[in-house]
Amino acid sequence: MEKEARYYKKLENKKVQCLLCPHTCLIKENKLGNCNARKNKKGKLISLSYGKPVAVNIDPIEKKPFFHFYPGEKAYSLGTFGCNFHCKGCQNWDISQRSGEDASIKKVPPKDIIKRAKDNNCKIIAYTYNEPTVFYEYMLETAKLAKKQGLKNVIITNGYTNPKPLKELCNFIDGATVDLKFIEDKPYKEYCGAKLKPVLESLKIYYNKNVHLEITNLMIETLNTKEEQIEKMAKWIKENLDENIPLHLSRFFPYWKAEGKIEPTKTETMKKAKKICDKYLNFVYLGNIMYENITRCPNCGKELIKRAMAYIENNLKGNKCDCGFPVYGRFVGL
Ligand code: SF4
Repeated sequence: MEKEARYYKKLENKKVQCLLCPHTCLIKENKLGNCNARKNKKGKLISLSYGKPVAVNIDPIEKKPFFHFYPGEKAYSLGTFGCNFHCKGCQNWDISQRSGEDASIKKVPPKDIIKRAKDNNCKIIAYTYNEPTVFYEYMLETAKLAKKQGLKNVIITNGYTNPKPLKELCNFIDGATVDLKFIEDKPYKEYCGAKLKPVLESLKIYYNKNVHLEITNLMIETLNTKEEQIEKMAKWIKENLDENIPLHLSRFFPYWKAEGKIEPTKTETMKKAKKICDKYLNFVYLGNIMYENITRCPNCGKELIKRAMAYIENNLKGNKCDCGFPVYGRFVGL
């Protein structure tokens, strides 16, 4: 089930250039792109991961994480293989850093994904686990079908997608959790093999295209836990997007190449970071640690959404607090 890629151009000598993400790989015949998920076959760019999910689960939407998007709902979640980042501590490295020509992967066309989601009472489909940009065609076709049938689509992404394909995707995506890993270019280059600016541009596109947006920041000691770095990130979100966008500060545990080289982030560091971000943003949450993540009304302080493992208590009236304050997010209409 291979698919010709969208967003590429053909060059001389059967070379191609992929235009899907900011790497814009030049790919010779028979070679793979940087993400290991797209291959030049006889001068055509092929998406190798089309219809080939390697990870499928039914997850609470909170796990993605989405805290302001239909709390308590389940998401039919799928990922394939490959990634356009090569983060040293990737927790899903066994699929993200895997190449794409494994014939044993069971094929699941988009219409079967919709059926499976519905059979499992999931009203949301989540494109997640590895970077969904690298299975763009599979995601786009599944999302179009899902939307037609009244399901919602969400993406969990590193934000490394070029503006043109991203704008097309936004027509079919309802929610995005974007991982803003760093607020400086240097660690993006050294840790992920990428650049900061395109990620910031993607955040603006999701927000301006009215896709519900949440941001995660994986806090890694020595790389992004200095007070000035945390303050700069929170300020950027407030000044360029919206102070109501939920920010999830997530605790880092080392996997893959970071095992034994980088320590897990201290819980004290996490709590200090939250205090800094609270000065700029209304909804800051902590992930990967035991923490009572309560959504409080920024206007009157009322506890609006309480979360404890699978238990969710939602005291919103529609999307409003009793005091009338409208809370950023999608809470009605599913
Ligand atoms: S999607 Fe893959 S092949 Fe295309 S530019 Fe990005 S890394 Fe390269």
